[in-house]
Amino acid sequence: MQKRLLVVDDEEGIRFLYKEEFEEDGYHVDLASSGEEALEMLDEIALNTDLVLMDIKMTGMDGVDTLRHIKEKWPALPVILSTAYPHYKHEFGTWACDAYVVKSSDLNELKGVVKSVLEKAG
Ligand SMILES: [Mg+2]
Repeated sequence: MQKRLLVVDDEEGIRFLYKEEFEEDGYHVDLASSGEEALEMLDEIALNTDLVLMDIKMTGMDGVDTLRHIKEKWPALPVILSTAYPHYKHEFGTWACDAYVVKSSDLNELKGVVKSVLEKAG
């Protein structure tokens, strides 16, 4: 069955790139431009979302805060944090995520991580 991803990033270019790339690989991709928007969308479609792929540095609610809200409400929903800044990996707030990927122009690592987290989630 087609897996449904929610991409959360405040950069339009990233949202469109991920949408194009992951749709090409057969995923259904929903987009949110902020943590607030992501939480609203999850309230409506959480049962259909298989994985959240989220930026950390966003205006308004950042990815770490959004992660905390998501895991409180939907503990089993896998969340991958993807950021340009590797140092966040060691921050306490990010520990609840299922995987942490440093942003790169080469999306192969990210795609591999998405696939393996989804496989682990069943
Ligand atoms: Mg950002």
